[in-house]
Amino acid sequence: MSVFGFSHAPVGRLAPSPTGALHLGNARTFLIAWLSIRSRGGRLILRIEDLEHPRVKPGAAGQVLEDLRWLGLDWDEGPDIGGDRGPYVQSERLEIYERAIRRLSEAGRIYPCVCSRKETENLQRAPHADEHILVYPGTCRGRFASWEDAQKVMPEGRIPVWRYKTEPGVSEFDDALNGTVRADMENDIGDFALARDRRGAGYTLACVVDDAAMGVTEVVRGDDLLVATHSHIALQRALNLPVPAYMHVPLVVSPDGRRLAKRHGDTRLSSLRESGVSPERVTGLLAWWCGFASFGDEMMPYDLVGRVSVMNMNRNAAVLTDEIKKWLGI
Ligand code: GLU
Repeated sequence: MSVFGFSHAPVGRLAPSPTGALHLGNARTFLIAWLSIRSRGGRLILRIEDLEHPRVKPGAAGQVLEDLRWLGLDWDEGPDIGGDRGPYVQSERLEIYERAIRRLSEAGRIYPCVCSRKETENLQRAPHADEHILVYPGTCRGRFASWEDAQKVMPEGRIPVWRYKTEPGVSEFDDALNGTVRADMENDIGDFALARDRRGAGYTLACVVDDAAMGVTEVVRGDDLLVATHSHIALQRALNLPVPAYMHVPLVVSPDGRRLAKRHGDTRLSSLRESGVSPERVTGLLAWWCGFASFGDEMMPYDLVGRVSVMNMNRNAAVLTDEIKKWLGI
């Protein structure tokens, strides 16, 4: 049974990547993750996921915290308030990831790979709808005796990636919103990359290691990561870590079903705030998308605690319609 049904205090997390300002889509996911914990008296951790170097923008972490606070969300541990399970910024936890990589390497669970992203794309076995999953055909599996051997064949300035040796078979997990989710590990997931860095600092590994180290019992995040969760669970098993409960929520999309982009209007919280939109109006909209309020209602996140259950939320994608844009003045 999933932890979402338990009565004892759960631990959840908000894990923003500081790659740009928070927009309505991220805000909705964070509100749901926050509500799930606050409704059951659990603990909430704020963790900054700043390992995707090229996309991380300076100052964006501070902006994300400010946006979340403006919206009325709070947390019990985080980079701004401290706590027993810190540091809460991933770039300050590299040694922890390095230890995990060493364990996996000693256990023969990973191997260095020298294929470029472009080569990997060309070698892809099956076309894949999810941009996060690129099925790698295992070209470098068993090819190098060590990381150093792999490094020798790399062009100047490039380093190998560590890949996880995916075991064949069907992976299955229960998602609180999506029910049983299955994947064929060999054909749908393949040998996934753990890091673009020898020390093992990449999103998948860091997320799995941190969720366990921080005692996280439930993960609420966007359903763009639904398929990737199979690789997270494989890694948790390989590292002997507990598997948290998962809930993947639909993203906010434009009327044509696409992910929100600049051309759909400026939905950044910071821009809405600057143009005079209140956090009550934004929360009201996020709650309406979830089926927790009527259109036009205004409230703060704490007004929803004890009144709604995330388990009863609307499972359809949230659509940013022209009517909503007009209401927000964007
Ligand atoms: N840092 C990721 C993001 O902002 C979220 C990852 C997760 O929740 O596991 O998209």
